[in-house]
Amino acid sequence: MRRFRRCLRAFARYRRELLLGGVSLTLASLLEAGIPVVASRGIRSVETYLSAEPRGERPDSFLLLVLALLLGGTVAKGFFRFWQRRLLIGVSRKVERDLKEEFFSHLLTLAPGFFARSRTGDLLSRATGDVEAVRLFLGAGFMYAASTLLLVPLALGTMIHFNPGLTALLAVPLGALAWSMKGLTRRLNRHSEAVQQSLAELSERAQENFAGVRVVKGFAREAWETQRFGAAAEAYRRHQIDLGRARAWNHVVLNASKDAAVLLILVVGGLGKLRGTFDLAGTYLFLDYVSRLYWPLIALGWMAGMYHRAAAGMARIEEVLSTRPEVETPREPVPVEAIGGEVELRDLTFAYDGAPVLRGVSLRIRRGEFVGIVGRIGSGKTTLVSLLGRLYPVPEGSIFVDGVDVNRIPLRKLRDAIGYVPQDAFLFSDTILENVAFGFDATPPVEAVARAAEAAALEADLASFPDGLATRLGERGVTLSGGQRQRVSIARACLREPRILVLDDALSAVDTETEARILDRLRLAARLRTVFLVSQRLSAVEAADRIVVLDEGRIAEQGTHRELLGRGGWYARTWRRQRIEGELERL
Ligand code: ADP
Repeated sequence: MRRFRRCLRAFARYRRELLLGGVSLTLASLLEAGIPVVASRGIRSVETYLSAEPRGERPDSFLLLVLALLLGGTVAKGFFRFWQRRLLIGVSRKVERDLKEEFFSHLLTLAPGFFARSRTGDLLSRATGDVEAVRLFLGAGFMYAASTLLLVPLALGTMIHFNPGLTALLAVPLGALAWSMKGLTRRLNRHSEAVQQSLAELSERAQENFAGVRVVKGFAREAWETQRFGAAAEAYRRHQIDLGRARAWNHVVLNASKDAAVLLILVVGGLGKLRGTFDLAGTYLFLDYVSRLYWPLIALGWMAGMYHRAAAGMARIEEVLSTRPEVETPREPVPVEAIGGEVELRDLTFAYDGAPVLRGVSLRIRRGEFVGIVGRIGSGKTTLVSLLGRLYPVPEGSIFVDGVDVNRIPLRKLRDAIGYVPQDAFLFSDTILENVAFGFDATPPVEAVARAAEAAALEADLASFPDGLATRLGERGVTLSGGQRQRVSIARACLREPRILVLDDALSAVDTETEARILDRLRLAARLRTVFLVSQRLSAVEAADRIVVLDEGRIAEQGTHRELLGRGGWYARTWRRQRIEGELERL
């Protein structure tokens, strides 16, 4: 049970419900064990009356009392069973929710590197399937186990009291039932997992084919993809059949053992009645107990079978929960009032895993400066700008904002001050307004949104959308062009009025004219904020206060556009090439 420590702590939060649920469960189990005894007393009174010579007084009033007790007992039992389930299963559902929340919020503290290493489908299955397996085991599993453990001794005690021999005989089919349930449940779990997995594969195949439909068609791979989908569908069918077979086996075993138990009771009870050693009331008592013990015994075996699935699930959840975030808010932060926007890199060297991607980069950027960062693909531009907001662990003493090491600035404060527009403009399936206002807890003022949209040159597009800012994006909404997506993403960053704005090749899909418009607006605002603009297209950085050329993680050149052209290095060469390409395109 040690591995479930985290959940048990979560359960402890709901002590009151657990206590009340436990009381309900105890009372319901006591009634469950008592009802057959009362019923058999009634039968015995009739039996005695019928067999007495001469007949005595009819036991009418006793029978009425028995009837009243049975009725009252059954209703009360139903009441307590209801509350037992309601409270205990309710707690397990709450623990499940808490665990999911903990899992999700922990995931969001982890660095992008973690997500690059993990598969989304795998994380999702941990957050849903594994958490559910744990919940089933700790909730329903424990509840049934507890009521079984209460009911079995009471029932067994009474049965032994009435007929120890028959009780011993019954231990065979009932014990076999509980025992075989363990293996059967494990088999069921295995098959239902295989079904889940093949279903996931099937939907992934379909989803990928729909998403990549242009590639599939472009390469004329329809027949091949259909065949692959067919194979996945066939695997799904096979696993379903296996699951069905395991379920059928379950039924056979369950019914066979129950029928064997009933047969045993009828034979032994009948023989006993003939010999005068056992009566009808006793036979009834055994039949009643067997039918009541039947389900709890199944549940016990079921729980033993569930244990493995739940333990494996918990281990997979723990694995993620125990992954430490690579970047944490500083333990002893330097109190910073408001961030101004001055940035200094001091001999910054950085590596992801292997060889350094940035080597000895030093830069001093004034507040309000417009910095262009260019260089070959893979030269480290994205890495450099993602380090400003500590998306990856930053070496001590290498990046300073307003003279304070970024590792000393509270993470939230630092990231609030930086408006980051990544290369892949990610938009949620929400309205444009919600996408732009993503960084806000509440809805921002309309004028602020309008200003941000203007900064990103979105006004004309908005006017052409059916519902303006309220237009829905994504699966059930409009599809934006690459450039529009980038501009929504820029508006999102501008809305926060960050002191430092980072555009990581965020204008690549925007046409040159719109790009120029956005850059003009950025420059106007640049007196207020420091701008880092990464770009493949050199025309975007032409007007920057300073252009930094990276090459294999080092600063190869820096200066204004004019200065760099004069130097005749990579920048000047690339500038000339891009200009010729641009002119050729215009022809
Ligand atoms: P640029 O933006 O100039 O194209 P990047 O900063 O994206 O360059 O990449 C610099 C180098 O770092 C490349 O060799 C790239 O393969 C590597 N790299 C980028 N991101 C990661 C990552 N998350 N993990 C490991 N290596 C990475």
